[in-house]
Amino acid sequence: MKSESSIREKFWHLPLEELNELEWELLCDGCGRCCLKKIQDEESEEVFWTRVVCRYLDQSSCRCTEYKERSTLVPSCLDVRQVYQQNSNWMPATCAYRLRAEGKPLFHWHPLISESKEAMLADGITVTDKCLSEDNVHADGYQEHVIKWVES
Ligand code: SF4
Ligand code: SF4
Repeated sequence: MKSESSIREKFWHLPLEELNELEWELLCDGCGRCCLKKIQDEESEEVFWTRVVCRYLDQSSCRCTEYKERSTLVPSCLDVRQVYQQNSNWMPATCAYRLRAEGKPLFHWHPLISESKEAMLADGITVTDKCLSEDNVHADGYQEHVIKWVES
């Protein structure tokens, strides 16, 4: 990854590996979906997403409250730089990194395109007001909270 700090016009059309660090960070839409807990069928290996969310996500802003310590505090916290190269199915289908890794354009509601978070909120993309903290759900009960995505 390039380390320059300039932001190129419409950089989100570029391949992920050509983005500099600032552009990489700006690509995140801030949906919070990657902070939802997942369960995987042991036989089929199919991944199911739940509405149970990591205790460190501020659900109103969709920001991690422990960003610098996240890997230590939550070993299962997704490292997007690794995941998109290995198996992008572990990222939500709307995730900007997954879309670009698959050569797809961003959705119309992405803040880089719509220039605000309003369209995301209107389309129900963020997890705000839709999830339960893991503090309130026993891990054995995650299957009761499996969800289907809105992928508009
Ligand atoms: S799912 Fe992707 S775009 Fe959304 S917050 Fe997570 S890393 Fe960012
Ligand atoms: S530690 Fe932070 S980034 Fe990682 S899953 Fe939890 S809230 Fe999300």
